[in-house]
Amino acid sequence: MLQFNTIEEATTFLGRNLTRAETWWFNYSAKKSDYYLYCHNILFLFLIFTLVPLPLVFVELMRSLGFNKYKIQPKVSLASSEMFKCYKDVMRMFVLVVGPLQLVSYPSTKMIGIRTGLPLPSVWEMLSQLVVYFMIEDYTNYWIHRFLHGKWGYEKIHRVHHEYTAPIGFAAPYAHWLEILILGIPSFLGPAIVPGHMITFWLWIALRQIEAIETHSGYDFPWTPTRFIPFYGGADYHDYHHYVGGQSQSNFASVFTYCDYIYGTDKGYRYHKKVLRKLKEESGTNGATQEFKSE
Ligand SMILES: [Zn+2]
Ligand SMILES: [Zn+2]
Repeated sequence: MLQFNTIEEATTFLGRNLTRAETWWFNYSAKKSDYYLYCHNILFLFLIFTLVPLPLVFVELMRSLGFNKYKIQPKVSLASSEMFKCYKDVMRMFVLVVGPLQLVSYPSTKMIGIRTGLPLPSVWEMLSQLVVYFMIEDYTNYWIHRFLHGKWGYEKIHRVHHEYTAPIGFAAPYAHWLEILILGIPSFLGPAIVPGHMITFWLWIALRQIEAIETHSGYDFPWTPTRFIPFYGGADYHDYHHYVGGQSQSNFASVFTYCDYIYGTDKGYRYHKKVLRKLKEESGTNGATQEFKSE
C-alpha cells in the first residue's frame, strides 16, 4: 500500500517526475496491501517450480537429439512418469510447507524493514543487494548443509534430498519439510541484514530458486550464462555432491565454490575431475562410455 493517493502527491513527495517503472509500480501497488504484495512470492514460487524445469524435461526425453553429450551422468535416464512423480512430491510440499511458511513469515519482513513504497531502488542498488544476499546465503547454507551431512542430520532430514543421486530440475526443492524450514533461514538472512525493496525481495527469492533448478538440472550446458559468474559452482559441481550421496564430504556450497575451497571440502571433486580428464586423454573418446561426462 503506497503512502500516496495520486501520482501528483508522489511527484510532490519525490520532488521529481516518476520514472516509467515507478509509474507502473504506483498503478500496480497503490491500492494493494503490503501483505498481499508479499504473498506474490507464493505465486512466483509455484510458477518457477512448475515452468523453469519444463525445458529440462524435454531435454531428458529428447536426449537422442544431441543433448546426451551434456548429461553429467549419461548412464542415468528418467522416464516422464518418474519426473512427474518428483513434481507431484514437490507440489505437495509446496502446498503443505512452502506456501504456509510464506503466509506466516510476513511479520518478519515488516520487522526487518522491507519497503514497498516509492522511490524504487536503482538497478545498481538492486544488483548490489542481490550479490550480498547470494553471498550471505551461500556462506550460511554451506555450514547448515555441512551439519546436515552429520550422522543425525543426514539420517533424520537430509537423506530425503539425496534420494536423487542424479538430480533433475524438479528435484531442486525436493527435501524433508524440516530442511525446507531450516534452509529458509539463510535465504532470509541477507534481506534481514541489508533490507531492500519488495521487488528486490521477489527477485531474490525467484533467482535463488532458478539457480537451484539449474544446479540440479543434471546437464552441464556450455551456453549457460551463469558460466560467466566468478566462482560459480553450477550443475556439474552440485551433481557430484548428489552422485557421492550420504558419504559426501565434498561440494557443500549452494552457489559459489570458494567456501569449499577455503575449508578444503572440494578435494574429492577436484580429484574426480582430474581422473576424468586423464581418462579422456588416455581413451581419446568423448567419454560416452563412462559414468560421467568428462568435460
Ligand atoms: Zn547434501
Ligand atoms: Zn541438491
